[in-house]
Order: sequence, then structure tokens, then C-alpha cells
Amino acid sequence: MRSSTLPSTFRRGAGLFCAAALLQVALATAVSAGAAESGRKSRKPQLAPEVAELQRAALAGGGAAELARSLSGEAGPRFAGSPGLARGVEWGVRTLTALGFEGVRTEAVRVPRWERGTAEGEILSPFPHASSLAALGGSIGTPESGIEAEVVATENLESLAALAPETVRGRIVYLGERMQRSHDGSGYGKTVAIRWGGAMAAAKLGAVAVLIRSVGTDSNRLPHTGSMGYEEGVTKIPAAALSMPDADLLEQAVASGRPVRFRLRLTSRMLPEVESANVIGELRGRERPEEVVILSGHLDSWDLGTGALDDAAGIGNVIEAARLISKLASRPRRTIRIVLYANEEFGLSGGKTYAVEHAAEVPLHQAALESDLGTGRVYRLRTAFSAQDAALAGELAAALAPLGIEHDPATPASGGADISPLRPLGVPMVDLSHDATTYFDYHHTANDTADKLVPADMAQATAAFATAAWILADRPALLGRVPQAPKAP
Ligand code: ZN
Ligand code: ZN
Repeated sequence: MRSSTLPSTFRRGAGLFCAAALLQVALATAVSAGAAESGRKSRKPQLAPEVAELQRAALAGGGAAELARSLSGEAGPRFAGSPGLARGVEWGVRTLTALGFEGVRTEAVRVPRWERGTAEGEILSPFPHASSLAALGGSIGTPESGIEAEVVATENLESLAALAPETVRGRIVYLGERMQRSHDGSGYGKTVAIRWGGAMAAAKLGAVAVLIRSVGTDSNRLPHTGSMGYEEGVTKIPAAALSMPDADLLEQAVASGRPVRFRLRLTSRMLPEVESANVIGELRGRERPEEVVILSGHLDSWDLGTGALDDAAGIGNVIEAARLISKLASRPRRTIRIVLYANEEFGLSGGKTYAVEHAAEVPLHQAALESDLGTGRVYRLRTAFSAQDAALAGELAAALAPLGIEHDPATPASGGADISPLRPLGVPMVDLSHDATTYFDYHHTANDTADKLVPADMAQATAAFATAAWILADRPALLGRVPQAPKAP
């Protein structure tokens, strides 16, 4: 390397741009080392020229982060049924059109509408303390004067079920299970039951309200919202999430052995459902345009932040991946269909509606991918293919290896939430898992904002989605349908 090239590389900018440049150097080294190795052994698969070009272009650009910043900054919070989501839909149509995608259109989706209102909560005794909390999505409000009651604290739904109803009746239940941090984000799935099921389980025992420790991994005084459920025939009670330090304090007060009284006041309420839309744009295939690979994310977000990570980042990744494919010298055989789902967060009506409305053409869906786990690099590939297409997983893994992506052949892909309604219909799924180590520090909080986007990591994720989408779309044959594992009794 000529010495004069070094300063110009580092003059390109501090921090993220340097990281992007270093990543490119590392990738170029890895690719050339791989090529040299393959020359010696002549067994290692070479990257197809289209894949090499997609990876080069993705790593050199910052388009995904720019798109995420644009959506989150121009539409703002995009909660189901809100004017912000309508702005998000407009953004989707405008952006896909401006980037030259074909068949840009909206497809109507009914979405529920919930109004957050205001949330106040305070420990009254053994000492007064105003808590930082947020209503869970879908919660009813409290009476105008609030609910005041003694707190009964337990960890999760299992330990709650073990309590005698007389210790719960007339009280506020607190569920304190802690989410564990991990790079695969698996702690979320293990903990989120307290958020979804807490109000139902507590109401069955006669509780008057439920508080949970936020499902997240930070220690800010910012609560994490998210959807919660009610059950037909079970009394609806208000539900709210405390920030981590407020949860700590409540637990400490309970542990002191003195009665802890809490007052909760929420003005949340449900409103009539409204119409929104999935936004679709395509890159039509050169040979089999009726067969499609789905690249997707969700336009909606929670209302506390601007949904930059959840899921403007995913929207940016998949649009940029498709845009890079559109710049190749030739189109893939099949159509790449970008689907920006209207409503993932509050009942999944975007993905459910798509699966119903497109049922007739689902047999021609080659595969589906979704990016919905924040700004992190993609670190792992999982697939769900039929037995006849088993070799394709290895082919994808080889093409993704230069990006530092590992292959987990033992666990089938599950698909993202929005594409999950396509899974029982036999559509092949590919999971490109983002590193989620820090994602749940910000997830569903006021801190989910564009300053958390990491352009270099998103460029790597874009390279991964572009690689997989191109290989799937250009494969000679339509993939076999994937049989579903029988449901557990
Ligand atoms: Zn999401
Ligand atoms: Zn979310």
C-alpha cells in the first residue's frame, strides 16, 4: 500500500466511516486469501461475479443507514393507525418509486388503533417515589383517580400461578423477571411472556393492575413498551412497564418486608380500527417474473421513539439490498419483491393480510426473508428448505462466509414475524440473524432513535441480504415447499 493512500483513507471520516473502510479492507483480504487458497486446492467455491459485486458495492456504501435515517426522521414515530404510520406509508411509496422499483403499490390493511394517553405511577409507602413507567400497548386505562393498592411481587407467570388467590386479590401484581443479554437476543423470547400474559394471569387471581420490569437489557430510566394481551371472559386490568431502576427500587422496597403501596394512573384507551397499507415494490425477474423472493421489514414502530432500529433499520437493509441488485448488469431470473409491512407491532395485521390476499400466488413464492432485529451485523445463517433443496443451504453459506457469517445447519429458520404467516403455507425461509447484543437496550423505548444506527454494520447486513436474495432469485428451479413440523399436542 502506498503511504499516500493511508491518510486519505483515514481522512474519510472518524468512527463509522473508518470502520467501513477497515471492513472493506478486511473483506478484500479475506476474498483474495480465499481465491489464493482455492487456486491451490481448486475445491473452494468461487463467489459468483454478481455476488462479489453486490458485496463490494454494499460494503462501500451507506445506503441502508441513510434510508433508515430518512424514514425515522421524516415520518417520525409510526404506531399502528397513527398519522405517523400514514406518513411512513407515503414515505415507502415515494422512496420505492424514486429508486426506480416497478409495480410500486399499496395494499390495504386494517389496523387496530390504541391511544397511549398519559401514565403516572408512584410508590406511596414505605416512602414516596415517582416511578418512570409506560402503559403496555393495548392496556385499558385506570379510573380517572387512578388505582391505589398494595403490591404483591413475584418473578414470572409460573411463580404467579403458584400464589394463593387471597394473596393477590385486590392487589397490584409486579412481575420482575430479568431479560438476559445475548448476541442472539434469545433472552427476549424467554421473558416476553410477562408482558404479553401478565394482565391475563394476574386478573384471573383477582389483581387490580399489573406492573412488569421492562423487557430489555439497559439500565436507563426509560421503560420499554410493547403489546400485551387480554382474554375473552377475563376481567381486563391496566398494565404498565417500569424502567429498570424503578423496578429495582420497587423490589428493594418489597424486600424490606414492609407493605408497599403503589398508585397507578393511565389514560390509555382503544379506538376504532383504521385502514393502513402494506407497501410493495418489485424488481421484475428476467425469466420467471411471476415467481418472487420476498425481502421485507415493517414500517410501523412503537410511539415512544422514532423506530430507527425497530424497524427502519430493517427497511433500509432490504431496500438497499434490492437497489444494489437493480444496479447489476443483468436481472436475476425471478422477481425480488420488497414488502414493507404496515403493522407488525400491534397484532401483525400487515403480515396476516398479505398471506391471505396473496394465497393464490404463495406457491410461487421462492423464499421469504425479513430484517427486523436492529442495526447489527448479520452473524448467522439459518434456512428452512425442503429435503430436495438441502444443498442450497451450503451454497448460501459459502457465499456469505466472506462476510463473516456462520452457518447453523442444526436449527431451521423461523422467518421474521411478518413473514411467519407464510411458513405454514410451505414457503422456504432464510434467517439472516443480526447481532442483537445491544438491540434490547433501546427496543420499544424513547431511546430508539437514529443516532443508534451503525452504518458500517448495516452495510454488512445489506451485503448479506443482497447476496441471499440474488442467489435465491437466480436459481434455475423453483424451490420445493417446506413440510411443517407437526404441532406439539
Ligand atoms: Zn420489529
Ligand atoms: Zn418491535
